[in-house]
Amino acid sequence: MDKSEYLRRLSSVNDLLLAFNRLQAAAEEVPRQIAVESIRSVVDSVREAIRAARDEMELKSIGTGVEDLLPLVEEEVRERLRPCLRRVINATGVVIHTNLGRSPLPRQALDGIARTAGCYNNLELDLDTGRRGSRQAHVEGLLREITGAEAALVVNNNAAAVLLALSAHAKGREVVVSRGQLIEIGGSFRLPEVMEQGGARLVEVGTTNRTRLEDYRAAIGEDTAMLMRAHPSNFRVVGFTEETALGELSSLAQEKGLILLDDLGSGVLIELAGYGLPDEPTPTRSLEEGADLVTFSGDKLLGGPQAGMVLGREELVRAMARHPLARALRPDKLTLAALEAVLRLYLDPGQAVREIPALAMLTLPGDELKRRASRLAGRIRRASGEFEVRVVPENSRSGGGSLPLADIPTWAVSVASPRLGPDELEEKLRLSEPPVLVRIREDRVLLDPRTLLPQDYEDIPRLFAAIAASPGE
Ligand SMILES: *Cc1c(COP(=O)(O)O)cnc(C)c1O
Repeated sequence: MDKSEYLRRLSSVNDLLLAFNRLQAAAEEVPRQIAVESIRSVVDSVREAIRAARDEMELKSIGTGVEDLLPLVEEEVRERLRPCLRRVINATGVVIHTNLGRSPLPRQALDGIARTAGCYNNLELDLDTGRRGSRQAHVEGLLREITGAEAALVVNNNAAAVLLALSAHAKGREVVVSRGQLIEIGGSFRLPEVMEQGGARLVEVGTTNRTRLEDYRAAIGEDTAMLMRAHPSNFRVVGFTEETALGELSSLAQEKGLILLDDLGSGVLIELAGYGLPDEPTPTRSLEEGADLVTFSGDKLLGGPQAGMVLGREELVRAMARHPLARALRPDKLTLAALEAVLRLYLDPGQAVREIPALAMLTLPGDELKRRASRLAGRIRRASGEFEVRVVPENSRSGGGSLPLADIPTWAVSVASPRLGPDELEEKLRLSEPPVLVRIREDRVLLDPRTLLPQDYEDIPRLFAAIAASPGE
């Protein structure tokens, strides 16, 4: 076995670069550095393979010529040019999936970004007077109109909204919260820690499952600035529970001259109960019941970009807008362009439900889900005979700390392979291009049409066919 002969035959970086450039001539230009790095990496790995070969057979199977290596170089270049943040197919049925970018934006929001972000715009210019304007002006009126709030402010996200509310109104003072609401969301939003950053002291009252008005009353002292309610987004204490109603908290806050802050988390702007979904509190109701300030996210059930909304009493919202932290937490033009477009859809709630993907997905009727599941199942069967494919009744989740624990009935495509275990199939789908994210249930892979977008119905069958055609390990 003469390895040195093989190593001598190995194409040089220069020869490969010449060949690669000839190939590229007609196509779009690949930056030279990417081409050279890719070629070096391919040549290095082939050299390693030659050195590691254990017998003549293995050695003979290693290609060393330019024509052998060029396809590997092209693959390597493709990988290096591929954006890191890219589209994935969400077949999990979790509508607001934080790991998958939360709510997909409606077309109108993308148009809004496209119209304004590549050119100059009136972000902070009042065109009528020619003077400096407020970036909030593009969304404040809409938020007031849709929710009936006295005043509105938009910041970077809901965590920022809570931080700003505490910094502006409870710094160095006490905030009373029920133990049942000391939430932790995705390991990153821990209410006690946000309060600490806001300079407020947390006073916990009641027990995890029961907090009464009298518990709040007893905790109020000289230093109390605020009563706070937080939506227990992704957990729910079930069974023997008692929560104090917002209206009662409001009367107590008024009596004691305190601010009542309601962190709604998801902040849905339409009444979901009308669509057969579990009730989710809206900011409008919260304000009507007496909250002085309400905060919620832009990219959960609202279905827009990442943002944090603050609604409430004029002087309280104004004080937050003037606070030095507001500058650090302000939203950027992409966010505002998208948010304005999404909020405009809410002027007609029917249009909002049709056009905003998160709402459209959540309100899909059962028979439509079944039809979509059957269509996808048929396409996967036609793409390859390898898989055993069924349509089964299942449950979707809204996700994103909204409609906690609500199982929403759906129809899913359930797939098994005689050759691959469910974990292997899940992994192959995740490593496909585009990646497909699925759930595993009872040793089968589940694809929920609730969260699929039109293009996904073309891609998924093709990716299953590619997996069926790929050699097993
Ligand atoms: C999601 C959530 C937050 C954090 O909101 P972001 O927009 O992700 O910062 C805060 N409070 C509650 C109750 C939530 O559900």
